[in-house]
Amino acid sequence: MRAAVIGAGVVGLACAEELARAGHEVRVFDPDPGAGATRAAAGMLAPAGEAWHGEADLLRLGVASARLWPQYAARLGAASGVDVDLRTAGTLLVGQDHDDLRQVRRSLEVLAAEGLRFQELGPREARAQEPTLSRVAGAALLPDDHNVNPRKVVRALLQLLGDRLVAARAAVDAAGVVTADGTRFDCDAVVVATGAEARTAVPQVRPVRGETIRLRAGDPPSRVLRARVHGQPVYVVPRAGGEVVVGASEEEHDAEPVAGLGTVVRLLHAARTLVPGLETAGVLEITARHRPGTPDNGPLIGPRAHSGPVREVLAVGHYRGGVLLAPVTAQAVRAHVEGSDVPAVARPFVPSRFTHPQHVTPTGQGRALTT
Ligand SMILES: Cc1cc2nc3c(=O)[nH]c(=O)nc-3n(C[C@H](O)[C@H](O)[C@H](O)COP(=O)(O)OP(=O)(O)OC[C@H]3O[C@@H](n4cnc5c(N)ncnc54)[C@H](O)[C@@H]3O)c2cc1C
Repeated sequence: MRAAVIGAGVVGLACAEELARAGHEVRVFDPDPGAGATRAAAGMLAPAGEAWHGEADLLRLGVASARLWPQYAARLGAASGVDVDLRTAGTLLVGQDHDDLRQVRRSLEVLAAEGLRFQELGPREARAQEPTLSRVAGAALLPDDHNVNPRKVVRALLQLLGDRLVAARAAVDAAGVVTADGTRFDCDAVVVATGAEARTAVPQVRPVRGETIRLRAGDPPSRVLRARVHGQPVYVVPRAGGEVVVGASEEEHDAEPVAGLGTVVRLLHAARTLVPGLETAGVLEITARHRPGTPDNGPLIGPRAHSGPVREVLAVGHYRGGVLLAPVTAQAVRAHVEGSDVPAVARPFVPSRFTHPQHVTPTGQGRALTT
């Protein structure tokens, strides 16, 4: 088959690479690959850390994708020569004070109900596991929540896609896609993976601004820390070479995503309270981008309800979890394009759930910790 993918964030690239690997003739269109939400992402592969009441289907999708990641990262590394920095030391979910710890325990209730692994730790055990922590009320070890460097994932996927990338904006037309300068690519299927920009064509997608701050630390934590610090959610994600990512805010915001001073100060203050050694870290970068949010926090993966003559498959609305969900989305998109069996965990996320309400999964509200 011939397939076009519009959008080269982590989701579009993963879909394009999966289709190319299956032997299809693929083009992926984007004037600035990897520069959307993917650029800000911390790279947590955190289905357990993200779990919240009323989102069981999303948790199962995340767990399925997290299980694909070790092999996926190894394959990308071997085939492209780019090490994507997969770290498998797990995640500590931390409560700084006793109110914070209560919120952590609410997340653990969800994991217990789904039979997912975690280990509760008292204050001393938490600091024994992670000596960079300050005095905290308690924590839980999530051994299966890992992390990766999304920018390296983009680099690896671009390397594998080679000249299948067309550096141009594109739109769906009657026979395939057309770029801004009028170049056409006729094809059997178009995958729409335009992140938060999909909102112009997919009304369920809305932009949710988030900021991350990149630091260079002499003594970074050894694993991901997701915490509440006196009510402020914050995470600290270590990467190769002493790089540390601090995040993230979450604001319903339609304007250009520009980092807000107050938000950045609150995040950095919380991060330094949690890990006092960050006091001397260097600030490398502050990045704000729009996450592609949806009404039920789940992605839209599958045929578009009212597509024209060309078959359109959506891969949008990955909100807080596009990096985590990239491998399972790629598999599901390939199945939708080929008309083969879609993985069972991805079936609840067909776009038609919004037009046929019996498929709607419950809305999650009042989340504890954000990606
Ligand atoms: C602060 C922050 C932290 C995050 N942390 C994590 C995390 O730790 N783990 C995790 O799993 N997720 C995380 N996320 C979420 C994750 O980044 C997103 O879910 C994911 O990047 C979405 O990928 P995407 O490819 O759908 O969209 P994007 O990365 O936004 O890519 C969309 C691409 O489409 C292109 N495009 C748009 N319109 C067109 C067009 N007409 N023609 C051609 N190209 C077009 C854009 O140029 C862009 O490159 C985070 C997000 C933010 C903002």
